[in-house]
Amino acid sequence: MTIAQQPEALNFECETGNYHTFCPISCVAWLYQKIEDSFFLVIGTKTCGYFLQNAMGVMIFAEPRYAMAELEEGDISAQLNDYEELKRLCLQIKRDRNPSVIVWIGTCTTEIIKTDLEGLAPKLEAEIGIPIVVARANGLDYAFTQGEDTVLAAMANRCPSKAPKALTETDKSDERNPIQKLLNFGKKKEEVIQEESEYVDHPPLILFGSLPDPVVTQLTLELKKQGIKVSGWLPAKRFTELPIIEEGYYVAGVNPFLSRTATTLMRRRKCKLIGAPFPIGPDGTRAWVEKICSVFGITPQGLDEREAQIWASLEDYVKLIRGKSVFFMGDNLLEISQARFLVRCGMMVHEVGIPYMDKRYQAAELALLEKTCQEMGVPLPKIVEKPDNYNQVQRIYELKPDLVITGMAHANPLEARGINTKWSVEFTFAQIHGFTNARDLLELVTRPLRRNNNLKDLGWDKLVKEEAKI
Ligand code: SF4
Repeated sequence: MTIAQQPEALNFECETGNYHTFCPISCVAWLYQKIEDSFFLVIGTKTCGYFLQNAMGVMIFAEPRYAMAELEEGDISAQLNDYEELKRLCLQIKRDRNPSVIVWIGTCTTEIIKTDLEGLAPKLEAEIGIPIVVARANGLDYAFTQGEDTVLAAMANRCPSKAPKALTETDKSDERNPIQKLLNFGKKKEEVIQEESEYVDHPPLILFGSLPDPVVTQLTLELKKQGIKVSGWLPAKRFTELPIIEEGYYVAGVNPFLSRTATTLMRRRKCKLIGAPFPIGPDGTRAWVEKICSVFGITPQGLDEREAQIWASLEDYVKLIRGKSVFFMGDNLLEISQARFLVRCGMMVHEVGIPYMDKRYQAAELALLEKTCQEMGVPLPKIVEKPDNYNQVQRIYELKPDLVITGMAHANPLEARGINTKWSVEFTFAQIHGFTNARDLLELVTRPLRRNNNLKDLGWDKLVKEEAKI
């Protein structure tokens, strides 16, 4: 097919939803680490427990701040009293760990037996004196990273809408903004005031999405270079430090799977959403910073050079993948941003599978993907929402991509058939945001190619019989 025959716009399809992904309750693994004073209680069955125990790997030996409330026969047949059972467990958590918040994670079972978690929580909260946040991160409705979305949407409702009276205007942002506090650490009051003047006068900006602390600092500093002050992050390091959100504040997302949180911030908290591509890859980070600048009427400084410099430092990795093709089976919603970045690296994307596609929240990212494909002169990929893994495997056999980004269920079977694979879940846990982490992202993408190049001479690239005789 020549470029001239390419469809003008992206092509969206929807399949059966018969695909592998992590259950959204897995979000407790990274959220309990992020929110240091939280405790996550997953209210489900042994199925959920087995999943968490296995998926979390070695983390489960580190006394994690999460637990399962395992439902018994008596709970399901309503012979036991839900309220009393949960109260007993929450009091035990309060006694043993004394958290600042308990997050209840609803599961498939609580949905099916219609446990009224949202109804029970406020009553119990008042009785035991610890905030209880309810998130229904179940496998019936959501996929993997969307679990974080449900938790953050629930937390968005808990952000204070006014600073406590005791804080003065200047203290206000610092007290609630631990990053700012960190950046100002060791500085005298006058220096801090002097620094304040380096910021452009713009309406408050809150960023949402859970990222490791070093990445939070990097992105905050990246915006600071443009004179933009980040007034807070949702979530913060501690539940007690959730940012103040007043009507009219601006908000911007850092991850593509946060559409419910974005909706909650807009509808319930009356914030203005800055719809930008996501800061993944140097191209995405630049577009993200530029969009935020444009909303505040700021002309971005030095982004051209910064981006060019990062691309130059990536060249040794980029040359390994330039001209190669990639196929995303789709399981974590980061796919569109990654596909856009890999196209910019010179790859051709056959298909982008994705569990759920919010075309409004991801509009800027989709537009950038389209633009990048046109600029790089490669065909636009097919976007397959709710993919069917069986059909995808048939397409992979036909297309013979150089790299398949997929879950662990298909990785080894495909490798044994001579197809390079990258395990998709690693992208969720690795630090891939911002300018400086672009290298880590490519490190992951190129690893299987580098490894298989090294092993090529052994002549073992296919390890299964081509045709099994039955
Ligand atoms: S899909 Fe449902 S039953 Fe399975 S682990 Fe997730 S919440 Fe539990």
